[in-house]
Amino acid sequence: MKNYCLLIITIALFGSCKLKPDSNNASENSLQNSIPVNKSYFITDNIIGEIIEEMVDLRGKQTLCYLIKSKSQASEHKMGPWCPRHIEDGKEKAGIWFDDGKVYDVSGHFIAELNEFYEDEKWKIYNEDGSINVTDSKEACLGAAKPDVEEEYKNHCVECLPSYFENQISTFVIPVNPIYQKSSQRFGRGGIGLAFNGVKFDPPAPTHAILAAHTIAPLDDHGGHVNPHGGYHYHAVTGSTKEIEQKDNHAPMIGYAIDGFGIYALLDKKGNKPEELDECGGHSDEERGYHYHAGAPGDNQIIKCLHG
Ligand SMILES: [Zn+2]
Ligand SMILES: [Zn+2]
Repeated sequence: MKNYCLLIITIALFGSCKLKPDSNNASENSLQNSIPVNKSYFITDNIIGEIIEEMVDLRGKQTLCYLIKSKSQASEHKMGPWCPRHIEDGKEKAGIWFDDGKVYDVSGHFIAELNEFYEDEKWKIYNEDGSINVTDSKEACLGAAKPDVEEEYKNHCVECLPSYFENQISTFVIPVNPIYQKSSQRFGRGGIGLAFNGVKFDPPAPTHAILAAHTIAPLDDHGGHVNPHGGYHYHAVTGSTKEIEQKDNHAPMIGYAIDGFGIYALLDKKGNKPEELDECGGHSDEERGYHYHAGAPGDNQIIKCLHG
């Protein structure tokens, strides 16, 4: 008899939806210009069942929200690869890593020189024959992809496969009509938003904990990897998922933040970065109201906080 372990993760924005904006200032009109979430942007094949509307209590306020369920598995692009197996493997056999705003291909060569890269002789995650230590089972993934990495998985390239957690279901609870709030708030646990393919956008990868154990958990070329808590998720936006083109020059839309505001790519049609972004990576205009722009792939940060 098969025993399916169905882990259900609910990601909701607890306590950020005020029902009434508290400012009538004309200059803030475009901030208060709430654009409702368009559920037809989501790819139906990636969403489990229908997206339903439900009144949800968000810190004492009854708020109309969409409940979106997904297995957080990408279908528009292949997931992986992540870790190379040998120090002579080329960059096509692995994913990417980032440091200080820059993106690096995780080739075998990159792995072999981690001690120089981080100026730390304790980095040696390959063996005499050139093979690289990779977490290549679910058990190893569980032992390595956590803050207190188990001793035997230190000095490893951490790779968890989407298939280990394919029965996990994430439920996103997103206000139908986002409302701008003057003060921003930090993320709770779980996702900060989702792409139109139902894959989660996560807060920054905890690079401190990862690197302290001399482990590295590469993203694939699409900015995603897998952990036991959320399955496949993105830490970087690389243009691999469905985009909604804008009529003007503005960057395309790539998903929604958990507060209901849209997330857009970084660069507009002319290749320019957006101007005057606030501390969360957002700004507003007449067409789109308040919205976010994803950070550059090397930033380890899709958006920095929430304003809804
Ligand atoms: Zn992650
Ligand atoms: Zn913009």
